[in-house]
Amino acid sequence: MIWKGRRQSSNVEDRRGMGMGGKTVIGGGLGSIVVMLLFVLLGGNPGDLLNNTQTSNSSYSIPPMNGSAQEEELADFVSVVLADTEDVWSAEFEKRGMVYENPKLVLFTDSVQSACGAANSAVGPFYCPGDHKLYIDLSFYQELKQRFQAPGDFAMAYVIAHEVGHHVQTLLHSGENVLPAEKRTNEYSVRFELQADYLAGVWAHYAEGKGYLESGDLEEALNAAHAVGDDTIQKKAQGYVVPDSFTHGTSKQRERWFNKGFKNGTIEDGDTFNAANL
Ligand SMILES: [Zn+2]
Repeated sequence: MIWKGRRQSSNVEDRRGMGMGGKTVIGGGLGSIVVMLLFVLLGGNPGDLLNNTQTSNSSYSIPPMNGSAQEEELADFVSVVLADTEDVWSAEFEKRGMVYENPKLVLFTDSVQSACGAANSAVGPFYCPGDHKLYIDLSFYQELKQRFQAPGDFAMAYVIAHEVGHHVQTLLHSGENVLPAEKRTNEYSVRFELQADYLAGVWAHYAEGKGYLESGDLEEALNAAHAVGDDTIQKKAQGYVVPDSFTHGTSKQRERWFNKGFKNGTIEDGDTFNAANL
């Protein structure tokens, strides 16, 4: 994918190296004053401590962890893909007289706290409808390559576009009763996930129209869609609330709906809920 030098999104929240957030929270009251005094006496900047006392949802001002050059490049890439999704969905919503609200994308390492509960990297990237944020540990890129045999930047782009697809679903269905994760049947989950794959395909359609796709990109995305199908791999993490860990559909179905979105390029043809044949 051609991406270097293109616009990066301003909606990335870098929480890498911060753990669960809860660990950095310092209790209020006298204790924190003592801590702060000690901290200042030891030559610290009180602002640093104040930043740390914010909850994980608002910890923007802590400097990002310096990863390897490769990881920083991946972070930039993710940010460009997110910016692309902002462009395509803003335009698509505008065509329908609606306003697209940009989601935030949270980069984290190992574990993270979201409005949907705590999660660790093992669950893979996910979207939380409760706070309209995508959560991604960049190590997933390696996992895609090694564990899922789905290498390539466009494979990662597909994953981001799929999670953004869940955000689009949340906005489109906001007036309806979207079933909470725990009440979804497998059938419902499959249709829900395939629609996110379709919406990822719509994004890829737009990227192609802009001339961003390089040879082999579509294959990378289709391969990734195939690799993360339920019949290929089922991921589970006990004890965590993970909206994206439910049934997604078979490899063939995922590939098919992504491809359909890629060919059609509009929201309308992605009604997986009423499709007779998935
Ligand atoms: Zn999903």
